[in-house]
Amino acid sequence: MDKNKVTGIGNQFVDLIVLSYQGDITLISEYNTQMLFDLLTITGFDPKKVITKAEVCGSGYVPSFKVENAYGDDKYATSLLNALSNMVISGRRDYHKDKQSLAEDINEAIRKVIPLEPIKLTPYGDMLCEEDIRVQVNNPDFVLHAKHIQDSDLLRYSSIGKHQRCGSILDLRDVSESYNVITCRSCYLRLPITKEIKTYGELREATTWFKIKQVKKSRCRSDNGSYAIP
Ligand SMILES: [Zn+2]
Repeated sequence: MDKNKVTGIGNQFVDLIVLSYQGDITLISEYNTQMLFDLLTITGFDPKKVITKAEVCGSGYVPSFKVENAYGDDKYATSLLNALSNMVISGRRDYHKDKQSLAEDINEAIRKVIPLEPIKLTPYGDMLCEEDIRVQVNNPDFVLHAKHIQDSDLLRYSSIGKHQRCGSILDLRDVSESYNVITCRSCYLRLPITKEIKTYGELREATTWFKIKQVKKSRCRSDNGSYAIP
């Protein structure tokens, strides 16, 4: 994730909501469409269309969004944009926050809903990713509060994520004094990892190291096809 990009999106999003609330509703339909697509993409959605409108409410205009993906309405993406919009409006109206403070709130909220960047586990392209956000929250209204995996999170025994493409659950199992294994419940992937690897970030680092090792091995032509992350 590019943190600077999140900051840019948060600032633009606040500008859009504040300006539209003040009555410049033309901005809602014509301005910042790319920013809305970027916001949704970075938070794990695949939008095809974002429909925006503004309705009179009290002394201002409340912008609302509707997102469509390749299959039709995306209730979760729609909820996310509307929840962020409400956060800006209530922060300004009820707490008299300035734009800078609102932008910090939005950036923080966006960072929390960014799914784990998939981790490449093997040189064959096996990827560990987060389970679908729709599994984590049954109600789209709570999309802003879904618990996403961070690189700093501990790897715990039992389920640690999803085997991308295969689609099944990956488990971490305790098998010896110095090694754990990552196993897939469906395709029987079995990957030993040292117990020194305790977080998702450390697992990412270890597999990065492994990729370097693979390059060196192929250069000296000693790759026998077996592997294990030390
Ligand atoms: Zn699998």
